[in-house]
Amino acid sequence: MSKTKDTFSLQFDTTWQYDAAPESASHIRLQKGYDLFIDNKFVPPADGKYFNTVNPSTGKKIAEIARASQADVDLAVQSARKALGPWQALSGASRGKYLFRIARLIQEREREFSVIESMDGGKPIRESKTIDVPLASAHFFYYAGWADKLEYAFPGRNPKPVGVAAQIIPWNFPLLMAAWKIAPALATGNTVVLKPAETTPLTALKLAEIIRDAGLPAGVVNILTGAGDTGAMMVEHPDIDKIAFTGSTEVGKLIQKRLAGTHKKLTLELGGKGANIILEDAAIDQAVEGIINGIYFNQGHVCCAGSRLLVQESVADLVIRKLKDRMETLIVGDPLDKNTDIGAINSAAQLKSIKKYLKKGLAEGTELYQSSCELPSGSGYWCRPSLFTNVAQSNTIVQEEIFGPVLTLQTFRTLEEALEKANNTFYGLSAGVWTDKGSKIFKMTSGLKAGIVWANTYNRFDPTSPFGGYKESGIGREGGLHGLASYIKFEDR
Ligand code: NAP
Ligand code: MG
Repeated sequence: MSKTKDTFSLQFDTTWQYDAAPESASHIRLQKGYDLFIDNKFVPPADGKYFNTVNPSTGKKIAEIARASQADVDLAVQSARKALGPWQALSGASRGKYLFRIARLIQEREREFSVIESMDGGKPIRESKTIDVPLASAHFFYYAGWADKLEYAFPGRNPKPVGVAAQIIPWNFPLLMAAWKIAPALATGNTVVLKPAETTPLTALKLAEIIRDAGLPAGVVNILTGAGDTGAMMVEHPDIDKIAFTGSTEVGKLIQKRLAGTHKKLTLELGGKGANIILEDAAIDQAVEGIINGIYFNQGHVCCAGSRLLVQESVADLVIRKLKDRMETLIVGDPLDKNTDIGAINSAAQLKSIKKYLKKGLAEGTELYQSSCELPSGSGYWCRPSLFTNVAQSNTIVQEEIFGPVLTLQTFRTLEEALEKANNTFYGLSAGVWTDKGSKIFKMTSGLKAGIVWANTYNRFDPTSPFGGYKESGIGREGGLHGLASYIKFEDR
């Protein structure tokens, strides 16, 4: 229920609330336990070890998941190596057919995938349904179209696959990140060993079922579940030709060090601290929606989140008032409820880390505003939408990635000052600009050191558009034509 603050919130401050509108989970089929997917078969882990994946909105176990050890990594890499020759020997059109088939099978099972994604990771069903699952399918469709056109994508360069790719992904977009990695790798003739994050393995394992059902040749895609050490074993494996990693900057740096001096190709998609910049001539109500979408979307578990809000001083009071009012209307709750705006924080460890930053921000003398919404009772992991004001550029909460529904707000007077503040970060993944003037968009976008800059919108994704960062946000691009290049070596070199 919202609190009465001013006329805007009065509209919402009535006695009604939305009734619960939970998505049915009765149609999904989950096993009690899941094995590793190697050579198109589900096989138990060599040392018989399993771990639990839990539902972060209840804290309860969903299933037991195999924990891959060195012997399993060896087997999966061997299987991918064996499949490489026959897979490369297929025509591009044939490889494309398999990708089209995977794309269609994801579409057919869209309801099942959306529910499982929300159960395992905590994100609102509205997002898994409208973003994660359709975009995952769209990536397979998009790269299927390139499979027989590589000569046109890179004219005169004689593009060849890199070989066996080890792909390691995080928990914030489990299925989508798997699609981002697998689709371009297969379109270009590589074979794959993929590891989902420990807390969100289920949709990758469901994707394994689809890969098997699509009749993909055995060994072309292998999926290994496990913890960080499984990822490290993949990175170290001598028979891997390429590592594609999405995750924290900390682990990305570690991987880069380990690969120094080896033949292995590397792409890194790492953290971010995106600046969302509101100029005084922006359409303020739309900008406020963009701010909400930029940081509270997916609980702030978004690498390209607009986690630093920069507002021109002349409209700062207005933006803050409207933003707080809008925050009051956000519903934190059951990820499977269609009304939920902010679902569960992905894990107990992530919630602890967010709380540490909330404390740290206050200790640094800033002001914290949190919406007064009710949090679900029970043992799930929840965080209210949070806004820090009165912050300085040097504050930890402005400098470090929090990866939760936590926004910091700074003001500026001139565009130059906005650019200086926006670029004053180790990261360089994303930014947003809100203004009525095209000329200001050009000035800001050319001055921002960020791989993606949205203008008058935020957090829009498309398979045709390259995605990636500057500075400590990563190396290389995924998506679009650029995403193909990450899986190709050129014979003219
Ligand atoms: P993380 O701790 O770095 O983990 C990412 C993946 O790496 C997980 O599968 C993890 O396995 C594995 N891993 C952990 N230690 C490893 C090691 N030493 N060697 C190899 N693999 C290892 O990151 P996260 O906390 O899951 O994800 C959040 C981070 O990802 C944020 O910083 C976010 O900004 C970033 N991210 C970036 C993008 C992008 O495109 N730039 C997209 C999404 C997320 P376990 O889960 O089993 O530990
Ligand atoms: Mg889970």
